[in-house]
Amino acid sequence: MECQNCQDREEHTCDNQMTGTYNGVIRHGHIQTNLGHTCGGYSRSQTVNERYCISIPDSYPLEAAGPVFCAGITMYSPLSHWGAVKGGMNVGIIGIGGLGQMGIKLAKAMGNNVTAISTSLNKKEHALKIGADRFVLSTDKESMDGAANSLDLVLNTISAEHQLGPYLSLLKRDGKLVQLGFVLGNHQVSQFPLMMKRLTIAGSLIGGMLKTQECMDFCAKHNIILDTKMITNKDLDQVYKILDAKNDQAVRYVLDIEKCN
Ligand SMILES: [Zn+2]
Repeated sequence: MECQNCQDREEHTCDNQMTGTYNGVIRHGHIQTNLGHTCGGYSRSQTVNERYCISIPDSYPLEAAGPVFCAGITMYSPLSHWGAVKGGMNVGIIGIGGLGQMGIKLAKAMGNNVTAISTSLNKKEHALKIGADRFVLSTDKESMDGAANSLDLVLNTISAEHQLGPYLSLLKRDGKLVQLGFVLGNHQVSQFPLMMKRLTIAGSLIGGMLKTQECMDFCAKHNIILDTKMITNKDLDQVYKILDAKNDQAVRYVLDIEKCN
């Protein structure tokens, strides 16, 4: 809580490493667990420093708040950092899973023109329904060519190995491509398009606590609510199988701790 990044309220970038809500090293706080690591939303209760508490507005459904602290802030933080929070930008969202859907809703509510980009045509209807102004099919050359040089900011949520080159072609001069998915391999990037259009490739991970509160309040104000499905511990094995198979569900699973036993 003392390094420069923490002082700047970018706690997730702490020089001494952030403490993950779950599967993190227990370094401060009084988390009752015999597993040796933090258990996040699988805990019945935790004691944390007030700095790490978020106020959820009374008007906001509690079960929908969980995804705000994950998908919400993951998309809100780069939108805010790269200027889209003021609106008026052309924003692209690659991947229409949990992150992407939140990104479309947030970017639209901020007043931007939003392009949804997916490998799958059957995401089109849903993307347009939740607020995208345009849909681009990334596997279709004509569709990609039609959107060339049109975007200021592209948030890339793809979490599988992929090439960045095709997406750089969508950016306007001084455009930014922000990497948000957990891709472990290396990207091969030709620097020529970067030079020709003065492009930036960047990355972002969740956000600091002030920004997270801002995101929560923004979601409440604009009634941005992801579809959730309440489950108990008995459903977990099945849910993990579903998520392992393909993590692009339109619904976010929320564990009802009070109903678990
Ligand atoms: Zn720190």
